[in-house]
Amino acid sequence: MIKVCKFGGSSLANSKQFKKIKKIVNSEEDRKVIIASACGKSNKNDHKVTDLLYLCIAHKKYGMSYDSILNEIKNKHLQIINDLKLNFDLENEIKRIKSLLDKNGNVDEILSFGEYLSSKLLSLYLKCDYVDAKDVICFNYDGSINFEKTKESLLKYLKTNKKVVIPGFYGSLPNGVIKIMSRGGSDITGSIIANVIDADIYENWTDVSGIYVCDPRIISNPKKIELITYSELREMSYMGANVLHEEAIYPVKNKNIPINIRNTNDYLENGTLIVSNTDKKKTPPISGITGKKDFLVISIAKINSSNELGFLKRILDIFDNYRIPVVLVTTAIDSFSIILDKSKIKNDIYEVCNEIKTSLKCDEVSLYDNLSLVCVVGRGMKDKKGISGKIFSLLGENDINIRTISQGADEISIIVGVDDDNYEKTIKCIYERFVK
Ligand code: ASP
Repeated sequence: MIKVCKFGGSSLANSKQFKKIKKIVNSEEDRKVIIASACGKSNKNDHKVTDLLYLCIAHKKYGMSYDSILNEIKNKHLQIINDLKLNFDLENEIKRIKSLLDKNGNVDEILSFGEYLSSKLLSLYLKCDYVDAKDVICFNYDGSINFEKTKESLLKYLKTNKKVVIPGFYGSLPNGVIKIMSRGGSDITGSIIANVIDADIYENWTDVSGIYVCDPRIISNPKKIELITYSELREMSYMGANVLHEEAIYPVKNKNIPINIRNTNDYLENGTLIVSNTDKKKTPPISGITGKKDFLVISIAKINSSNELGFLKRILDIFDNYRIPVVLVTTAIDSFSIILDKSKIKNDIYEVCNEIKTSLKCDEVSLYDNLSLVCVVGRGMKDKKGISGKIFSLLGENDINIRTISQGADEISIIVGVDDDNYEKTIKCIYERFVK
């Protein structure tokens, strides 16, 4: 059995956290491949190393001194080295970062130092082999991952029985140049590695005991989700639940490798298990409730447009031309509501509306900018009668007006649009009735 274990930044924030990792890794022989994020925050006022590296680059770009920021990076690592009595030439690594900054070197390489340093220290502390991500995570020139080459490269290093530590977040292009992933990318590294070595499980160690049914800022102490499918997780993360990098799902999903979200600070907790399929009989109707505020609705009406071939396509083309992502489209017969993330349209809003109105000869184009979307997710809703009816009456009874409704034919989620003022209240009502 092989377990790939990825530890997030908060699990590497200081020497106390390193000790917790050691206990976790050594408690099971199967925990063979360890992926590390850059050192994260120890407390609210602390900074993540990756953020500090971004800051150094920005200071350099605008001709300001970055010395104090680089010093903060150095001290954070030095503290860990001293506490754990590690033998590591940090001074030399800091010089390398400095020289890259000074000669305006590869920005991705500078940013990779967060994961590089934390992984070097972790491998020394755990007495594991260190494998550099640039030697095993292989990108194509278009930024996609070359899984075959990654597998080939990685297997060379996994021949011994020794556990290995690999930095997350970066890899290299075919010409050897270092390339990073998007923020939070160590999750993706873990998932790619689990895929290429056919791991039995991908453990993602963080600072919460799993995925909660809803946002703890809205419901205090919400229930934890024990088991969820990849598709449900996808729905939940698209609509705001922020647990795992969304690109981390595909590599493991393709090979049916379960993901286990675990808590480094409470390692005996089982966490949440993410799988392809589950036993339907034991499935509750609702797995999670999530959502987001601050959407904008553009309502478009034109008499007889339902008989106008390609009308919706022409509307969507306009958004495409302005590179504005459309979140949801709900329709009546001769009218359409296009739901957009407010922050993505702010500058073009009047131009877009004007273009829709004139070029498509619409009767009416109106705006509503106070919409929240609440997404009720559950594989258990499929083929179960009356769930949507109950949700809608519940909201009605609680004086909440539903502005939009959307449900796909796979019945895995129901999305309701309510006024921003009713966002928290909607989630609370659904949680109280269906989950608690
Ligand atoms: N250190 C990177 C970031 O802060 C990647 C990661 O932690 O997953 O985004």
